[in-house]
Amino acid sequence: MQECIFCKIVNKEIPADVVYEDEEVLAFRDINPQAPVHVLVISKAHHSDLAAAVRADAGLVARTLAALTGIAKDLGLEETGHRVVVNTGEDGYQTVQHLHFHLLGKRRLAWPPG
Ligand code: 5GP
Ligand code: ZN
Repeated sequence: MQECIFCKIVNKEIPADVVYEDEEVLAFRDINPQAPVHVLVISKAHHSDLAAAVRADAGLVARTLAALTGIAKDLGLEETGHRVVVNTGEDGYQTVQHLHFHLLGKRRLAWPPG
């Protein structure tokens, strides 16, 4: 997946502000943050979207979410609350085709989303 920007971040070909890393999971700050805390949590393995990832390796998706909850705690988002978002496809406004969980917090978020 040479052309995938998040694979390039995983491979350290382009820099990112990494907040968490293990063998399978990487989390880094979004380049265009929509909240005071806006972190993208991804599996290092490339999967294009949530459905593809679940089909290929549902356990990996679960472990990525487990890492996300730990990151939320470490960033102080457990007490204040936060939002986890997975944009999917065109209507979901997915712009990077490597599954990523947006973790947003430290401001009161509106609902419904725009
Ligand atoms: P999507 O629209 O696919 O749900 O979200 C993609 C996110 O990736 C956007 O919030 C965008 O700001 C972020 N993003 C795109 N390119 C880069 C990059 O090179 N570095 C970082 N840190 N974030 C990026
Ligand atoms: Zn990728």
